[in-house]
Amino acid sequence: MSKNKSSESVKVVVRCRPLNRKEESNGPAGTIIQMDLRLGQVILRNPRAPSSEPQKTFTFDAVYDANSKQRDLYDESVRPLIDSVLDGFNGTIFAYGQTGTGKTYTMQGAWLDPEKRGVIPNAFDHIFTHISRSQSDRQYLVRASYLEIYLEEVRDLLDPNHGSARALELRESPDSGVYVRDLTSCVCKSIKEIEEVMNVGNQARAVGATDMNEHSSRSHALFLITVECSQPGPDGRKHIRVGRLNLVDLAGSERQAKTGVQGERLKEAAKINLSLSALGNVISALADGRSGHVPYRDSKLTRLLQDSLGGNAKTVMVATLGPSSQHYDETLTTLRYANRAKNIQNQPRVNEDPKDALLREFQMEIARLRAQLNHRKWRSKQKKDGQEDGESWERDGDEGTEGEDEGEEVEKEAEEYVKLEEQRLERETEAIRGDQFLLAEEKQRLLGEKERMMGVLRKEQEATEQLTAKYKAMESKLLVGGKNIIDHTNEQQKMLEMKRQEIADQSRSEREIQQQVLVQDEETVELRETFTSLQQEVEAKTKKLKKLYAKLQCIKAEIQDVNDEHVRSRQELEQTQNELTRELKFKYLIIENFIPPEEKNKIMNRLTFDTEEDQWKFQPLVPAESKSSQMKKRPASAVGYKRPISQYARVAIAMGANSRYRAENIMFLELDMTPPNTTSLDRSGEAESNQSHSVDSSPTKDRGVRKSRSWCQTPTSMASSSSNVSLSACQTAAAMAAQ
Ligand code: ADP
Ligand code: MG
Repeated sequence: MSKNKSSESVKVVVRCRPLNRKEESNGPAGTIIQMDLRLGQVILRNPRAPSSEPQKTFTFDAVYDANSKQRDLYDESVRPLIDSVLDGFNGTIFAYGQTGTGKTYTMQGAWLDPEKRGVIPNAFDHIFTHISRSQSDRQYLVRASYLEIYLEEVRDLLDPNHGSARALELRESPDSGVYVRDLTSCVCKSIKEIEEVMNVGNQARAVGATDMNEHSSRSHALFLITVECSQPGPDGRKHIRVGRLNLVDLAGSERQAKTGVQGERLKEAAKINLSLSALGNVISALADGRSGHVPYRDSKLTRLLQDSLGGNAKTVMVATLGPSSQHYDETLTTLRYANRAKNIQNQPRVNEDPKDALLREFQMEIARLRAQLNHRKWRSKQKKDGQEDGESWERDGDEGTEGEDEGEEVEKEAEEYVKLEEQRLERETEAIRGDQFLLAEEKQRLLGEKERMMGVLRKEQEATEQLTAKYKAMESKLLVGGKNIIDHTNEQQKMLEMKRQEIADQSRSEREIQQQVLVQDEETVELRETFTSLQQEVEAKTKKLKKLYAKLQCIKAEIQDVNDEHVRSRQELEQTQNELTRELKFKYLIIENFIPPEEKNKIMNRLTFDTEEDQWKFQPLVPAESKSSQMKKRPASAVGYKRPISQYARVAIAMGANSRYRAENIMFLELDMTPPNTTSLDRSGEAESNQSHSVDSSPTKDRGVRKSRSWCQTPTSMASSSSNVSLSACQTAAAMAAQ
C-alpha cells in the first residue's frame, strides 16, 4: 500500500451505535447494517431496493458493532496512535458521521462510568501513565488547548471571555505547520488538571450555545495536546521530541437543507457546511492522487487538519453510523466518504528538536533561575564568612548537573544567613539602646542606621523568596519520568493491561491477514489452478464468472449511485450559485444607483487582499502609526532638529553660546565698532565656502543653510556691518571644533 517507505495510509474504522429506544419502537424494520468483525467489513442493505439487489460491502481497518466496548476501540485502534504521539509523531483522531450516531460518545463518552469513557479520557490516562512509568532521565511537558470552529470562526474555548472574544486567526510557520495565533495553552501536570481543562472548555461550549444539540451538530471541536519529551541522546546532549495530538469531534455530516433560504440565513447555511464540504473535497483530491491541487485553504478546518491529511501526521478516522433504515442515504454517504479516506497517504516523521519547543525554553529559564539563586547563596555565604570564597561560587555556578534538592538547600542556607544577620542586628540595636555614654543624637543616628540595615535585609529576603517561588513553580511544570505522577496501578493490573494490548494487537494483525487473503483469493489464486478434467474447468470457470458478474453488478450500481449523488450535489451548488448571483446583482444595483462614483472609487481604492486570511480587507483611513492623533506630523526640516535652523544658530549651539538661541532663527549680532576691513572679509568668505562642505554635506542641509546664510552673510548686503567678522570667526572656530 505504501508509496514510499515513510508513508502510511490514514486508518479508517467504522462504528455503529445500537438502536435507540425510538428506533426500536418504530417497528421491525431492524437494522440495515451488518458487520463482519473478523474481516473488518460493513454490509449495507438498501431498505427501499428489491431483495435481489446485491448488498453493498465496504472493507475497513476495523469495524465496531453495537456491542463494542469503548475500551476495545481504544486498545485496538487508538492506542498505537497515542504511543506514536508519545514518541514524537503528530497524531489526529477525528470522528465523522451524522448527528446522533455517536461521535461525541466515541470521543468523550460518559466520563463517570469507567466502561463508557471515550477516546479523550482514555488518552489522558494513557499519556500520564506512560510518563509515570518512563525512566527518570526523561522530562515531559504536557500542554492542552481547546477550540471550536463555528460558522467558519475559530474560537478559543479556554478563554475566560469566550463569548465576547474575537475570532482567532490561523497562521503558518515552517516549523509547526498551521497553528492558531494567541490560542490559550494550559500546562497540565496530571490527569486531573487536563480533565479540568476539558471541563472548562465544554462548559464554554455549552454556554455559548442556546441549544446545545443544535450547536454541537454545527460546530467542530478540537482538543489539542502537545507532549514534549526531553531525553539524553547517545551524544550526551538532551534531545527534545514533540508530539502533537488533535482530538476532533466534527459537526454532524448530514446535509443541511438549503432550499428557500436567503440573505443572512443563506450565508449561515453555506458556512455551516463549508468546512465539512471542504473536508470532503480535500479527502477526494488526496484519495484521487491525480489532481495536484488540494484545496486546504478553502476552510478553517481543512487548514488546521492540513498536516493530518496527506502531511506529517498519523491519522485515525472513526466513521460513526446509525443502524436505522431511515438514515440509509446518510449512512451510505458516510461509508463512501470513509472508504475514500482510506486511500490518503501521510508522511509521518518524528519531530526532533524543533525550534519552537517550549520545553527547551522552560529548561533554560529554570537553569537561569537556579543560577540566580546560587548567586544569592554565594553572596550570603560570602557575607557570612566575611571573606572571598570564589571557589565555592565556581562550583555552585555550574548549573544543570546538580541534584534537584539544590533549590531547598539554597533556600535553607539563605534563611540561615538571614536569621543570623537579624539576630546580630537586634543585638547591636539593643547594645546601642543600652549604651549610656552615647549622646542622644548619636544614638538616634545609629538606631536609624540599624533600622535601615534591617530593611535592606528584609527586602533581600523577600527577593530571594520570590525567586525561589518562581523557580519552584517553573520546575513543577516539568514532569520527570516516574517521579511527579505516581502510578497507582499494581502489578496485576499492569499485567492485565499488557495482555489486553497483546490481544488487541493480535486481532488487528489477524484481520489484516484475513483481508489480504481475501484480496489474493479474488485476484490470482484461481488463475494458477490446473484442471484435471474439462468438466471441472467449466465448473470452476462458471463459478468465477458468477462471482465476477455479481461484482460487476455491484460496481454498476455503485457508479449509478455516485452519478446520482454527483448530480444532486451539483444541483445544490447551482442553486447556491444562483442565490449568490442574485444577491450580487442586487448589491451592484444599489451601488450603481445610490452611491456616487467618486465615493465608490474611494472605497475601491481602500480594498486590499490579505493573503494570510484569504479575504479582502479595507485599509484604514488613517495610516496605522498615527491612529491616535488624526493630525499629520510636521515634516522635519534638517536632520536631527525640531524645526528649520539657521547656520548661526547651529554655530551658536556648537560653541555652547547662549542657550536661548540654540534652536531659533534669531541672530544675535553684537555691535562691532572697528572700521570695516575688506581683505579679511574676502578671506572669511573663502574660508566659509570651504567649511560649508565640511560642516554639513547633505544636499538638504546645504539648501536650508544657504538660504539663511544669504540673508546674514552676503558681503555686499552687509558690507557696512563689521559684525560679519565676528560671525565668520565664530564659524571658523565651529569648523575647527567639528574637525
Ligand atoms: P453525535 O455526537 O454524533 O451527535 P452522540 O455521541 O451525542 O452523537 O450520541 C447520541 C446518543 O447515542 C447519545 O445518547 C449516546 O449516548 C448514544 N450512543 C452513541 N453511540 C453509542 C454506543 N456505541 N453505545 C451506546 N450508546 C451510544
Ligand atoms: Mg456530538
